[in-house]
Amino acid sequence: MSPTIYAALVDSLFMNPAPMIFGAFGPAIAAAVVAFVTADVWCWLSVPLFIAVGVARAYQMYRYKRRNAGLTVSEAVVWEKRYRIGAIAYGLALGIWGVTVLMRTDDAAAHMLCVTTVVAYTSGGVGRTFGRPNIFHLQVLLGCGPVFVALIAFGGIYYYALALLSFVFFAAIRRLTSSLQRIYVNAWIAREREAALVSQFDTALNNMPHGLCMFNVDGRLAVMNHRFSEMMGLPGEVVLRGVHAREIVAECRRSEILAEDSANLILSEIENSQAGEIITVEPHAGMRALSWTFQPMAGGGSVVLVEDITERRMAEAKITHLARFDELTGLPNRVNFRDEIERLLSHAQDATSAFLFIDLDQFKQVNDTLGHPCGDRLLCMVADRLREMMRTNDFVARFGGDEFVVFQRNITSNEDAASLARRIVERLSERYEIDLHLVEIGASVGIAVTSPSISADVLLKNADMALYRAKADGRGTFCFFREEMAETVEARRILELDLRRALADEEFELYYQPLVNLKSGRISTCEALLRWNHPERGTVSPVDIIPVAEDMGLIVDLGRWILRKACMECMKWPDGVSVALNVSSQQFHQRDGLREVRYALEVSGLPAKRLEEVEITGSSLLRNTQWTRHALTQLSNEGVRISLDDFGTGYSSLSYLHNFPLNKVKIDRSFLEGIDTDRPLTLLRGVARLSADLGMSVVVEGIETNEQLELISADGTVTEAQGYLFSRPVPATAIRQLLSASHGRRPSENNLVTLPSRSTG
Ligand code: C2E
Ligand code: MG
Ligand code: MG
Repeated sequence: MSPTIYAALVDSLFMNPAPMIFGAFGPAIAAAVVAFVTADVWCWLSVPLFIAVGVARAYQMYRYKRRNAGLTVSEAVVWEKRYRIGAIAYGLALGIWGVTVLMRTDDAAAHMLCVTTVVAYTSGGVGRTFGRPNIFHLQVLLGCGPVFVALIAFGGIYYYALALLSFVFFAAIRRLTSSLQRIYVNAWIAREREAALVSQFDTALNNMPHGLCMFNVDGRLAVMNHRFSEMMGLPGEVVLRGVHAREIVAECRRSEILAEDSANLILSEIENSQAGEIITVEPHAGMRALSWTFQPMAGGGSVVLVEDITERRMAEAKITHLARFDELTGLPNRVNFRDEIERLLSHAQDATSAFLFIDLDQFKQVNDTLGHPCGDRLLCMVADRLREMMRTNDFVARFGGDEFVVFQRNITSNEDAASLARRIVERLSERYEIDLHLVEIGASVGIAVTSPSISADVLLKNADMALYRAKADGRGTFCFFREEMAETVEARRILELDLRRALADEEFELYYQPLVNLKSGRISTCEALLRWNHPERGTVSPVDIIPVAEDMGLIVDLGRWILRKACMECMKWPDGVSVALNVSSQQFHQRDGLREVRYALEVSGLPAKRLEEVEITGSSLLRNTQWTRHALTQLSNEGVRISLDDFGTGYSSLSYLHNFPLNKVKIDRSFLEGIDTDRPLTLLRGVARLSADLGMSVVVEGIETNEQLELISADGTVTEAQGYLFSRPVPATAIRQLLSASHGRRPSENNLVTLPSRSTG
């Protein structure tokens, strides 16, 4: 039995105070009447006994009723004990009185009154004491037991019959109390279950993510969970049973959860809801998105479920946005742009528009050297600049990577597109400041102009070809699409395929061109120069190969091949002769470049001091970056010597000379043009002296005549010379012969050697 039920049973003992008080004084009156009529002194004694016990029990009852808190189990134990004492005392009093009346008087009427009183009192006890039958049984035993014995003892057929009947009556009443207790306990168990069920239902109802309301058939509220009132911002007084749906909906209007039209719709649904009806109220003007479901109930009325779908709607909107916009820059993406162009093209057949395909130059270097976060920032800044430049009609998007596109609508002539392209190139080439780095990039633009019935795909392809041309024209420029470009692009595509295959099939070869030391007259270094022996194209110049390989990203693999091949070849040369390599800027920025060099040296066994890396200065834009300096310093620490190639041309700057750990400067052959006149010679000598003063050895490239050689070697600052005068670049076998000739021969008097020149690639 659960503690609650036990407490309830004890509580039932004290349930009806009035019958108990009356029951307590009833036998006292009966005893007084019998004593008066029979004038038996002993009978009088029972009267105060009944009164005393009756008063005590009534007092207990009063005290019990005065407690106002619920009954705990320990209290129930105490109160049960008190009740038991009272019941026993009263039972004893009854027994004593019964025996006294039956044994001391002969008055049949007194006997009748006595037996009737005992029976009446006992049957009254059933209704009160059934909760604790043991107490009742004890009371019956103490009260009725002596009367039963006294009836037998008195003797006579009536008394025996009375004894028998009262015994049967007491036995029956005993069973009655037990079954009454069972019924009462079962009722309590059912009540407890129901309470548990109600609390579970309540918990479920108030913890569900949905708001829920049940309305009766007359539209009045039966149940509402907390979530509903919370979602609708309903004040306490509205959340009452019996409130009409109309008032609740009006309150939702007041708290601006529902707009007027939605509120009317919802009310009519509650009043005559169809099975499974769903209404979604989309968020507008700061309202939340709610999904309402109406379900009619079996006996009339309806259940309303409300789900707050604002977050889901926002997530869906975000997904849709992500699918159509570039996350980084917020610009429309390729899919979005294509759809839009398709739509514009189909709507404005007769208007001419231009499609500008923009590609950033040197973006990869920014990513490689400053890291991706900087690259990302740069892309955002580019996007901002493009946005600022657009007219409201124009449409800009990011295609991915460093590719942007602009759709310039309704142009009057090609000049409109050209001028926009020009402005884009200029604006995007202006400096960017990213995390204290000053970054400069360029942009190339390919333009395709719409024609009637052109598709978005063709337009895109054309602009792409024009862009390709713009890049090939030296980047930082724009180019319109022309029909013949398709052929060039195809040719380039074939070249790329060929190059890839050539690397796999080892169609490349290294030629070597000597650098001659002007003091010793001997070959000090040989520069490795790439050649491609193509079955149909013939020998292809590196000038045509390198930029394509760079664009394709093939340069890293190609560079690795050159590095290993050159180191192996150098091992076959006399000890003092080094090998010089041309390194493309892309290769140079590759992260594991140093490891590649170490590996090549290790595999070939070539000492690091015999390897000369010749930096190619061309597209290295981010001057003085820490990474460049760091990479060069590491190589230099490794023992590899660093040369600066083509000094004095294009991008090379004097600041290179003190910013990087250079060992050698190679003065470009353009300095030799018109060297027989004063100024170029002064310039060349000045540069040579400056380099020599900074501790670097100086090479002059492109020496073709003895006069040139004499002029550059006159003041002794130039340490080495390279050019057709000594030798053209030659295959490996030929360079070995040259080397043995150079190193086998003693230097001539004026320390100059003129090696036989050869005509090769
Ligand atoms: P570079 O490094 O300045 O190489 C010198 C270029 O000048 C070579 O052209 C060479 O043949 C040429 N040359 C040498 N002496 C004379 C001369 O007296 N007169 C004239 N007119 N030219 C002379 P080449 O072999 O066609 O190479 C062109 C450029 O291609 C190289 O310029 C270098 O920048 C690049 N290159 C060559 N091989 C490689 C390579 O393996 N890797 C990389 N990344 N670039 C390479
Ligand atoms: Mg070179
Ligand atoms: Mg050069």
